[in-house]
Amino acid sequence: MAYDTSSRIAIVGGGCWGISTAYHLERAGYTDITVFERSAELPSPQSAANDLNKIVRAQYADDFYTDLGLEAIAEWKKEDWAPYFHQTGHLVLLSGYAGEKAKGIFEGAAKTAQTNPKLSPHVTKLSGPEEMREYCWQLTGPLTNFRSYFNRSEGYAHSANAVKGIGAKLVKRGVKFVLGPEKGTVTSLVYAGDGRRCTGVKTQDGTTHNFDLVVCALGAYGASLVPKLGTFSVARCWSVAHIQLTAEECDVLRGIPVVNAMDLGFFFEPDPETRLLKLTPLGAGYSNFSGTTLLQNTSLPPLASGDVGQDAALANYVPEADEAQMRRLLRETLPWLADRPFVHKKVCWFSDSADSDYCIDYVPNTDRSLIVLSGDSGHGFKMMPVFGKWVRELLEGGSQTNPRWTWRNVDPAKSGADWGGDVSWRFGEAAETSDIVKERKTKEAKM
Ligand SMILES: Cc1cc2nc3c(=O)[nH]c(=O)nc-3n(C[C@H](O)[C@H](O)[C@H](O)COP(=O)(O)OP(=O)(O)OC[C@H]3O[C@@H](n4cnc5c(N)ncnc54)[C@H](O)[C@@H]3O)c2cc1C
Repeated sequence: MAYDTSSRIAIVGGGCWGISTAYHLERAGYTDITVFERSAELPSPQSAANDLNKIVRAQYADDFYTDLGLEAIAEWKKEDWAPYFHQTGHLVLLSGYAGEKAKGIFEGAAKTAQTNPKLSPHVTKLSGPEEMREYCWQLTGPLTNFRSYFNRSEGYAHSANAVKGIGAKLVKRGVKFVLGPEKGTVTSLVYAGDGRRCTGVKTQDGTTHNFDLVVCALGAYGASLVPKLGTFSVARCWSVAHIQLTAEECDVLRGIPVVNAMDLGFFFEPDPETRLLKLTPLGAGYSNFSGTTLLQNTSLPPLASGDVGQDAALANYVPEADEAQMRRLLRETLPWLADRPFVHKKVCWFSDSADSDYCIDYVPNTDRSLIVLSGDSGHGFKMMPVFGKWVRELLEGGSQTNPRWTWRNVDPAKSGADWGGDVSWRFGEAAETSDIVKERKTKEAKM
């Protein structure tokens, strides 16, 4: 099927990849774009981008994503995106507690940073706490045996504001948004011709909407509408916590770089509006294979299978091990915050692939009527300014020519593999969200 600029295009999911797709298609002259989003407002509470900030970096272990990261950073500085980007610099650390795997990865990353000619002009290797404090004087902790380097070209972007702000721009430019639990939640895709062609979407209110092309940009929820995605894309979550600061404390930390200890976790300069400092512990994350999902051998966020009970049991809680890791990070870096209560605790869901490569492709045997965007693997936000361009190229090119981003044909019997601990840049063992719920219940029963 060939498309032209008047083709009727549905984008299901108004997270960062869905909005970026709408942005690039609208800019290329497509006139009939409709975004379906289950939340009444952008960003959706279910979007992984519904957050104060995300790291925007170009450094990767492989040059392919480094080049894309550089392209994205250049775009973050342009008019539409610049209000959300903060080039604070990125202080990459490894703590003295790190194991052998983490040490190897850090050394590899530091070497790449210093030898890649596109990165190295911005990178300084640091030795010892005093040199680290030259780049972030606020780090008053002992930084015991920390290793570090600083990249001044990287930073972060306000992810919730980017989704909201670009979404609002698109409304003005004529993109249609169908929002809210009834009208905006897509409950199924509609097929014709023995399931060989996707002809539209059905929403929670029972309405069928017809389209020429449907793009599913559902993040961790992908397999709920395209079940075979579950064979190679695993919904996984990480913990997020915040510390509420006073105005004065917020001022003290203004302008700090992203502080990212590869084996412990990372934090950002506090958000001036809410005065919240956000932290994320780094680890292999939690999947939800054992939840009451509609699909066998598939990990999905509990809400995707209507498991409201489990969703509630995960709310405002982070596992003890994650909490301990974040407190260790604070003790070593900002000790005056190490014992503060954590607020707005949550888990944040993303879509993980075994090789951390994205999937941007047509679903096989759908006559090019259905595209899926999946496998963000926890590193998809930074690409928001450029991501939709790759979807437009797929749409106009007719097939995915980049082998790293194609649909994967995985034997369903072998799907669900527990590869979380094997992902090259993460440490620790992947676990299940049911383990979190069990831990919480045991803890609460003792109180
Ligand atoms: C804790 C954490 C930290 C991260 N840190 C970084 C970072 O520092 N840098 C970085 O680049 N990336 C980071 N990421 C990853 C980044 O957030 C994701 O790669 C990115 O948000 C993926 O975008 P998406 O559009 O695919 O999914 P999402 O942003 O999750 O959007 C999916 C959308 O689909 C909607 N939806 C779901 N089901 C339906 C339905 N049936 N009908 C209608 N709408 C539906 C949801 O409401 C949601 O809005 C992080 C992720 C997490 C969890």
